[in-house]
Amino acid sequence: MSQLDASHEILQAASLMAKNKRVIAFTGAGMSTRSGVPDFRSPGTGLWVHLEAAGTDETQSGTIQAFGRDPQTFYEHMKPLFQKILSAEPNAAHYALAELETRGIIHTVITQNADLLQQRAGSKNVIEVHGSLAEATCIQCYKVKPFPPLLDQFLSDGIMPRCQECGGAMKPNIILTGEQLPVRAMLAAQQALRRADILLIAGTSLAGGPATALVDRAYLQGSKLIIINQTPTLLDHVADVVVHDDVVKVLPAIKATLQKLKEGPHV
Ligand SMILES: [Zn+2]
Repeated sequence: MSQLDASHEILQAASLMAKNKRVIAFTGAGMSTRSGVPDFRSPGTGLWVHLEAAGTDETQSGTIQAFGRDPQTFYEHMKPLFQKILSAEPNAAHYALAELETRGIIHTVITQNADLLQQRAGSKNVIEVHGSLAEATCIQCYKVKPFPPLLDQFLSDGIMPRCQECGGAMKPNIILTGEQLPVRAMLAAQQALRRADILLIAGTSLAGGPATALVDRAYLQGSKLIIINQTPTLLDHVADVVVHDDVVKVLPAIKATLQKLKEGPHV
């Protein structure tokens, strides 16, 4: 789809956002693919590819149980992904959402991504419902430490980070299979969504899981939905605006259209 084909939808989305008081963004892996971060939770991509290449049982190695049994192997398998995330830069989609927050149009970004790219683009109000690479937790004594310095150390010496207090393995605060989503973040997301007039959904197919249930609930409570994703999503049929195109193209276009709407009537 060219930019022209979607221009009607982009104007619709911008008009809705201009009219409504509280816009919450809900984002997924599609936001970061153009930054070079693979969707490591999807079978067949990202982490799973690395695990398959390593000849490991992919159904076991991404689980919290596998981490507990052999954290060093987990770190070794994650190394290529960690390196990609460290070298990734925010893209135009991240910057568009950050600027819309600065302008007071977007209130909060709820993200399923743990890669910190939305925050690095300048967003202040970010809720990470699938965990975050900002911190790591000791699996024995639950001491929490900033993860980036631990990751730097692992990437230079290859030894998995251990807790300074008790020697336990430090697990990055990303959510592995078999773990619950972070309670505090989920509650914060629910609270943000309760008063949402519009949900701007970007880069996620809403394929299921507790985070997607948040969107279902917001819709049932009366939020309007704007969906931007390359492929169809489970909620396309109830959304007010749907654009099947790249977030890197569409979000900056919505931002620019909103700017024009604010400047004057001649759009
Ligand atoms: Zn510890």
